[in-house]
Amino acid sequence: MTAHIDREIAARPELVTIETAWRAPKEQHPGALQKHQYRELDIPDNPDAEPPCSHTKSALIVFGKHAGRTLTVCVDPDCSVHNPREAARIAADPPPIMAPAAAQETEEEAAQREAEHEERMAEYRAEQERKEEERKAELERQQKEYEVEQARRTETRNARQAAFERILSNVPATFTASQLRVFLRALVNLDPYDFAEDVAAFYVGEEENNQQTPEEVLSFTIDRLPDEKLTGFALRLVLTGHTDIPRENDSDYLAQAEAAFAPPPPEKATGKKPKPTIIKEVSPSAKKTSPPKKKIAA
Ligand SMILES: [Zn+2]
Repeated sequence: MTAHIDREIAARPELVTIETAWRAPKEQHPGALQKHQYRELDIPDNPDAEPPCSHTKSALIVFGKHAGRTLTVCVDPDCSVHNPREAARIAADPPPIMAPAAAQETEEEAAQREAEHEERMAEYRAEQERKEEERKAELERQQKEYEVEQARRTETRNARQAAFERILSNVPATFTASQLRVFLRALVNLDPYDFAEDVAAFYVGEEENNQQTPEEVLSFTIDRLPDEKLTGFALRLVLTGHTDIPRENDSDYLAQAEAAFAPPPPEKATGKKPKPTIIKEVSPSAKKTSPPKKKIAA
């Protein structure tokens, strides 16, 4: 196959080379066009035929399906003939057509008519370029907007993970009625299909060859946990599935749990932090060990 391809290229140096399947860039035939860089045309490879557009080329497939064959391709992804979107755009905004010649046209009149047409064409091209610039600017703006949005989501996700950990770092041994309500609300709104898996993954930890089902892992954990850790287990069980950013119009059960279990410390408490000596006597669960947190974005 390689020999055949080399012979073809030697015999017809005008051929462009294309690859019809993806492979790693360092393995690609030097200079070969990749799938997104050409459009296969449904016309036979005939160098003598009138090409449908100025970007029409004969191409040799050097890798992928039908390797070794030649076909006809258009090598301009934005071709006004072959890219349907581009073609539609031009159909909607066609270039000016030169005025027809008058029956008795002098040379001067013909030159005048041509000059007028040239002028209109120049205006049309300038307008097209302006629109192209506008399109590019719009694409760039959308790309930037997307990146900003992604960065914002990453930040929100990190903040939610931090809130989740803060809640679980300090779980009381028993719930108050209002905490129990928050817990139950989070519980009934869990996605029942996969919530156990992520929680089980936490308890299995690094153990890679664990053959137990998530339910088995969680049941085993319940049997083994000391009494005062059961509320922490319960909270992890219901909150793990709520750490993702909630969809629009969905309730944020993590935020509710944060308010009920780990409200952020008052902002102005910089000068006088509560002394641990006072807290110690109350209960270990009342300790305020968490550092001041930034407000969590919704
Ligand atoms: Zn074309």
